[in-house]
Amino acid sequence: MTREYKAPRGNELHCKNWRIEAIYRMLHNNLENAERPDDLVIYGGTGKAARNWDCFDAIKSSLENLEHDETLLIQSGKPVGVFKTFENSPRVLICNSNLVGNWSNWEHFNKLEAQGLMMYGQMTAGSWCYIGTQGIIQGTYETFAELAQKHFDGTLNGKFCLSGGMGGMSGAQPLSIKMAGGIGLVIEVDPKRIQRRLDAGFCDYITQDFDESMEMVKNAIAENEPMSIGLVGNCADILPDMAARGIIPDVVTDQTSAHDELNGYVPAGYYGSNLSECDDFRASDPQKYIGQSMDSMKKHCMAMVDMQKQGSVAFDYGNNLRGQAQKAGFEDAFAYPGFVLAYVRPLFCEGRGPFRWIAQSGNPEDILATDKAILEMFPDNQLLKNWIELAEEYLPWEGLPARVCWLGYGERHKFAKKMNQMVRNGEIGPIAITRDHLDSGSVASPYRETEGMQDGTDAVADWPLLNALLNCASGADMVALHNGGGVGIGLSQHSGMMVVLDGSELTDQRIERVFKSDPGTGVMRHADAGYELAIKTAKEKGVKLPMLQ
Ligand code: NAD
Repeated sequence: MTREYKAPRGNELHCKNWRIEAIYRMLHNNLENAERPDDLVIYGGTGKAARNWDCFDAIKSSLENLEHDETLLIQSGKPVGVFKTFENSPRVLICNSNLVGNWSNWEHFNKLEAQGLMMYGQMTAGSWCYIGTQGIIQGTYETFAELAQKHFDGTLNGKFCLSGGMGGMSGAQPLSIKMAGGIGLVIEVDPKRIQRRLDAGFCDYITQDFDESMEMVKNAIAENEPMSIGLVGNCADILPDMAARGIIPDVVTDQTSAHDELNGYVPAGYYGSNLSECDDFRASDPQKYIGQSMDSMKKHCMAMVDMQKQGSVAFDYGNNLRGQAQKAGFEDAFAYPGFVLAYVRPLFCEGRGPFRWIAQSGNPEDILATDKAILEMFPDNQLLKNWIELAEEYLPWEGLPARVCWLGYGERHKFAKKMNQMVRNGEIGPIAITRDHLDSGSVASPYRETEGMQDGTDAVADWPLLNALLNCASGADMVALHNGGGVGIGLSQHSGMMVVLDGSELTDQRIERVFKSDPGTGVMRHADAGYELAIKTAKEKGVKLPMLQ
């Protein structure tokens, strides 16, 4: 059967109302934006939208037949039940990749997955909220802009930024670095991945030749010209060599699929034309492959620490390279910080995080109208203004037209209500609002979002569970609870949500509750951990925290 990977557009409904239709379109939109749609893999190596095609078809028909007061339950990508609930209840509840603590590891997960009993949901893959590369471009831009503030007087102009990986999420790096003013060199084993980013306008040049790439970097520094280069190669070969030769970038990070030592990371020596041999190696001797993969990650991470010692600003970009290197025997793997600890935590204290909205009509004009509305609503937010202008200039539409920006507590519900009013007035079509699972109150992940919490509660998973429960109680249309995300099974717990703006008065009420509750749990979590900025935010904005009154 030939599959259609395009999300429906226009006014014709496949489901019984817009609240269900938008979830249906978002599921299809995930596939439209997928890295490997034939395998249902959306991004992040193995992050899937449904367990298999039978499950996908059953989800589709369940949504088509779902009533306005029923809720569909999804267990690791498989539709398992439909129950009568309330009109204001979520229409879809999703749990992906969750295992009881003692069994929460790749070995056990892989066994179950091989038997067809589980699925890896990543973050927005299994919760149908992926919008292509814009989400991660915005987050990456935000991180590099914050890094520039902290280390380089507010700009990356003339700075050489080195990273690895140009896949689903990592493919955002070249453009984000360029948008922040820098010169990005991103190493990727697979030339096809680089070419795809080149075709999309996310990367300027591709080369197989290291010396040529360094020449281009040198010229760009001399000319102070923002640009991006994709170098075909393997990080585990190139970074140690650079560190040994004293070729030291201003900034070094990495976004290869290091969280998965078997199906993600490619061991040293493999890149370009011998990648098919690597696939054969993986299939024929997985244990030996894992050994080489772990050893390569150790060398890769050691080179980053070496570069840090020689003057680079080094940070981990949420792929657990440090954790893998430590497991492989490199004691000093955590010498450089994770990006949240280094740049994002203060934003989380104000309930800020990646808020995104998607035009269900498929018409880009709807998003351009909301761009205008958000700039009018928050005229003093310079970062927001810069981002929206850059996004309109650089970003192509991918799948259903979408926009993302970071909004905080007090801002999200105001803007959501404004958009619902625009839907009601017929200025735009229905909108789905969602966010990354990487948000202020929705994640526990000791190697990433909750690394180095000041009260030591990095691994406490009660917070994302409370966030998901509260989003259900507040009337979100979809709520998801996942294990694993970008760092791997057993290493994080996180939740996602979606609210559909159909223009109704009832939706105004849901907006008021969900978009205060959701970022409010972030303010609460950080205030509880003792962060002064979060306590101040709670006091100023009237978030009720019983132990801090
Ligand atoms: P992906 O699998 O689509 O892309 C990773 C790329 O790395 C692939 O193209 C692969 O060919 C390449 N690669 C693998 N080993 C390599 C090596 N040794 N040298 C050079 N290239 C190599 O995955 P993705 O969606 O791009 O995600 C990348 C990683 O980032 C994952 O671990 C993911 O969990 C993590 N992630 C972090 C964040 C964040 O919040 N910062 C967000 C999303 C994903």
